[in-house]
Amino acid sequence: MDLVFFGIQGSGKGTQAKRLVEEFGYYMFEAGGELRKIKASGTELGNTVARYIDNGELVPFDIIMQVVKEAVAAVPADQQILFDGIPRDEDQKKAFDEILSAAGREFTCLHMLLSKDEAVERIKGRAEIEGRVDDADQEKVLRRMELFEEKTKPVIAEYAAQGIVVEVDGNGSVDEIYERIKTALHL
Ligand code: ADP
Repeated sequence: MDLVFFGIQGSGKGTQAKRLVEEFGYYMFEAGGELRKIKASGTELGNTVARYIDNGELVPFDIIMQVVKEAVAAVPADQQILFDGIPRDEDQKKAFDEILSAAGREFTCLHMLLSKDEAVERIKGRAEIEGRVDDADQEKVLRRMELFEEKTKPVIAEYAAQGIVVEVDGNGSVDEIYERIKTALHL
């Protein structure tokens, strides 16, 4: 079963995802990471992607969905995938659901809960460590959080209505949260 990981910027989703990958061998699909690779390629597509990422806006639908399609096609059917950063809005959800269903893949969603105030505090520290342009600019971080609230939360709500969302409290130490996740997912 694949895993679709949701959480506001700064919720600690990336840290927890890495641990799950190490312990359970998921193939990691990180939407932002894939897009940053394209940005770094220096191609025309890379420059287009950069304009969105650096401003904290969603990269156009066709670009991100092409990346997802290619990644899913490249992963063997018996290898579980952990998706981080996709789908982020209703259109992406529709396309994502179709891609996964066409590939015969099933998934559970995990939503890491953290207040926006706490998330803002955490991100301030992260910008200095990882050197990300979009994390260093407070205004861009707030814009991404706004997009999460406005566009991604309704997606999570739809999956929740389908009964496939597990919620985990994102407050506490990395170890505590990881244990919570494993318990919640029966891992
Ligand atoms: P965060 O979740 O903290 O915003 P990510 O690394 O997941 O960080 O994403 C960084 C940026 O990459 C986003 O602000 C956006 O520009 C782009 N991006 C990531 N995922 C998507 C997506 N599913 N659709 C469109 N753009 C995306």
